[in-house]
Formats: sequence, C-alpha cells, structure tokens
Amino acid sequence: MKWTEFADWGRRVSQWAQDYHLTIGSRPVRAQTEPGDILNALPAAPPEEAQPLEDVFRDFENIVMPGMTHWQHPRFFAYFNSNAAPASVLAEFLTSAVAAQCMLWQTSPAATEMETRMMDWLRQSLGLPGGFAGVIQDSASSATLAAVLTMREKALDWQGNRAGLFGARALRIYASVEVHTSVDRAIWIAGIGQDNLVRVPTDGPVRGMDPAALDAAITADKEAGLHPAGVVLAVGGTGTGGTDPIAACIAVARKHGLYVHVDAAWAGSAMICPEFRTFWEGIEGADSIVFNPHKWLGVQFDCAAHFLANPDDLVRTLAIQPVYLETQGKDGIVNYSEWSVPLGRRFRALKIWFVLRAYGLEGLRDRIRNHVKWSHNLHDRLAETPDFEIVTAPVLSLFTFRYVPEGTADPDALNLALVNAINDDGRIYLTQTRVGDRMVIRFQAGQFETTADDVAMAYDVICEVARALIQ
Ligand SMILES: *Cc1c(COP(=O)(O)O)cnc(C)c1O
Repeated sequence: MKWTEFADWGRRVSQWAQDYHLTIGSRPVRAQTEPGDILNALPAAPPEEAQPLEDVFRDFENIVMPGMTHWQHPRFFAYFNSNAAPASVLAEFLTSAVAAQCMLWQTSPAATEMETRMMDWLRQSLGLPGGFAGVIQDSASSATLAAVLTMREKALDWQGNRAGLFGARALRIYASVEVHTSVDRAIWIAGIGQDNLVRVPTDGPVRGMDPAALDAAITADKEAGLHPAGVVLAVGGTGTGGTDPIAACIAVARKHGLYVHVDAAWAGSAMICPEFRTFWEGIEGADSIVFNPHKWLGVQFDCAAHFLANPDDLVRTLAIQPVYLETQGKDGIVNYSEWSVPLGRRFRALKIWFVLRAYGLEGLRDRIRNHVKWSHNLHDRLAETPDFEIVTAPVLSLFTFRYVPEGTADPDALNLALVNAINDDGRIYLTQTRVGDRMVIRFQAGQFETTADDVAMAYDVICEVARALIQ
C-alpha cells in the first residue's frame, strides 16, 4: 500500500468507524465466540505475496469483528469502562500519522511541552494544588511500579539501583486488601517480594484501611528490625470501590517518614466534579497519585496521568543518560523518558488536548454525574426487588448485589450462573467479584454514550434472566 492511497482508505475507515459507533447498540456486548474460533479462521502461515487491502479490510469485518467484545457499547457495565470519545480517536489518528518518538524534548518538543501543559490542566481539573508536576504513563500499573521503585530507592538511600537488594533489610510496603493487583506486581518486579506487602486490615470492603492498624503494622515492623518504605492507598478499588481514608493514612505515613502513592485509576476522573472530592480528602499530602483518563474521562486507551509532589525523587530513581540521549545546549528542558520505565513514548498528550477542548470540563462532568445518578437509581430499584440483595452500597457509579431467591442451596453458583446467562443474552455485560467469601455481581455505569434508558434496560435484563434461571 502507498501513501497516495491513504486518503481514500482513511475516508473509508472513518465512515466505517462512524457507522460502527452509531449502530453498536444492536450488537451483543460481549463477544459470543468460542475459544479458538478466530485463531482457526486466520491462516497458519504469513503471506509471501502482497494482498490487496480490500481483502484485508473484508477479513477485518468478517473474521475480527465477530470476535470483539464491544467496549464502547452503551450497555457495557462490566469492569471499568475504557472510553474512547470520538475527538480522542481523531487525535490518535493524527498521532499515528505523525508517528513521532517522544522520549526526549528534542525528539518532539511539541509533545513534551503539550504534555507539561495538559498535565497541569488535569491537575487543575482535579483540584490538586499547584505543587504537583505530572507525567503521562502508559498505564496505572506503570505509574504504580514507578512509585514503588521510588519508595525503594528512597528507603535504600538511593543505593538499590547500584547495589541491588542483596543483604539489605527487608523493605516493607503497606496496602489494604482492596488495592489493585498492579500493586502486587510492582512489588514483585521491584524485588521487594510479596511477603513484604503488608495487608493492613480494613473497616469493610468499601471503607478501606484502618489508620490505627496501619500505624500498628509499621511500628511492629520497625521493632522487628524490618525496613518500612512506603504506603499505597486506594481511592475507588476495582472490586467494590474500596477507598482508604486518605488524610488519616497520610498522617500516619508522614509520622513514620514514608512515601505515599495513591491509586485512583478509575475514581480519579470523578474528581473533576468538586462534590466528589470528599472521597480523597487530604490528597494534597500524597507524594504520588495516578488516575486513568483512559477510563472515565473519554481519552482513548492508553493514558495514565501520574502526579508527583516531588518529581526529582522519581527522576533520581529512573533517569539514566547514555551520551547519545544527551540534549546539547538546552537548559531547563524536560525529558519525560526519565520519568518512566520505558524509554520510547507515544504522543499521548494530544488526545487529552482534543478531549478537554471538544467537551469542556462541564461536558465531562455532566457525563460522570449522570453515570453516578443512574447507577444509584438502579441500586434503589434492585434494593426494592424481591430476591435481590445489595452487598456493597454505591461508590460513585459502582455497587454489588446478589440474587438470593428463597431456598437457594448454593448462592455463589447461582450468581455465577446468572452473570453467565446475562452475558450470553448479550444485551448488557456484567462481571462478578468476591466480597469476603461471597460471590457477587458487580455493576458500574461509565460509558460516554450510555443513557438512562440503557440503565433501565439493565434492570429489565437482570430481573428477566434471573427469573428464567430458576424456572
Ligand atoms: C484499572 C485499574 C488499574 C490498572 O490500570 P492499568 O492502566 O490497566 O494498569 C489499577 N488500579 C485500579 C484501581 C484500576 O481500576
């Protein structure tokens, strides 16, 4: 294929994309394929000769699309939504057309300076104080890894990268059971080890960590000769929205001189609405905060906003400068590759710029407020419906429930069967989670094109499929 054919294909692809999104609601949300269907439809060997793009495009529609779960479907109520507002898709089109490597200021000055400006726009949008600087990471997992590495290096007086961890006292990191598995993996990769991730008891699945228990755990470790290094806090945990009491936990961490990272990957977007900021009261005391504009803010995957009270700690942990990466003769510039584990970087700031301008903060707030309101409506209706029980109350737009008709012998099996039957039905998509020892069904609303009617349909589908299940 040549660039001279690009515009024709570009028009065709954009027409396809518009049609896809305008009719997406008529597709089953979750892919209805069996394992291996797509693999078997793809030739086992690569082509030796060039093939017409016409054929490739036809196979995309016939082979690939039936095997897709539709993340932009307005009745996708599973996991957390990964929104791609049309303005951000256009920005990604431009980013991939220009295809610049944005690792250093000089390899793409506009990308670097746009990133600085966009991270400050996001900082203001969330109501964070002016002291925070920011960088865009590929994912919240990467931001959490960078934060855990920073905790490690600070605790080891910046000797870990050089000397390794051999012979050092065991470092200890504290988090509740509600934090995301990306925290566990950051601790594995940082060489700290799962055994040194201390699970601080919570006040229940939604309330988060007990600050007195955090204090006691750190004190006990110090007395035992272990080496506390940092605390990871959750705002809006993935399972049930578990949120640690940020101000009180940060006060404990400060008392012990520990670095604090806050994972608000999903809930962070909602902080553009001032009325929700009570969720993370005291956040200005954190050292490091991550949230994913690629979840609830409409910015096409991938885009994780990482704020730092003192970026020098992060740069001291991650920067490495071989001669070929030095930027000659320019002082005061930022090279964002020194702020992250990967060297190469995409131009991610462009899609933030497009989204914030195309919708405005008010347009984004409207969407988030509606999701929260509609989710509360569904919660209220299910709470009043016989045979259903609410397990965890709404945290923003997320709550969990169970179907427990009288005489249910095995409620876990019944609720798993219900989730599967709902997803086979295809009109909506839900996932399950565990609360204590109970299997529960999770609901959250967060898709940009979702309407009140879509959430009302969720109620009808849940009740209809549930009743049919015990007939
Ligand atoms: C989604 C999510 C993550 C992981 O985000 P990635 O960007 O996929 O790494 C981490 N923490 C929480 C609370 C999340 O909701």
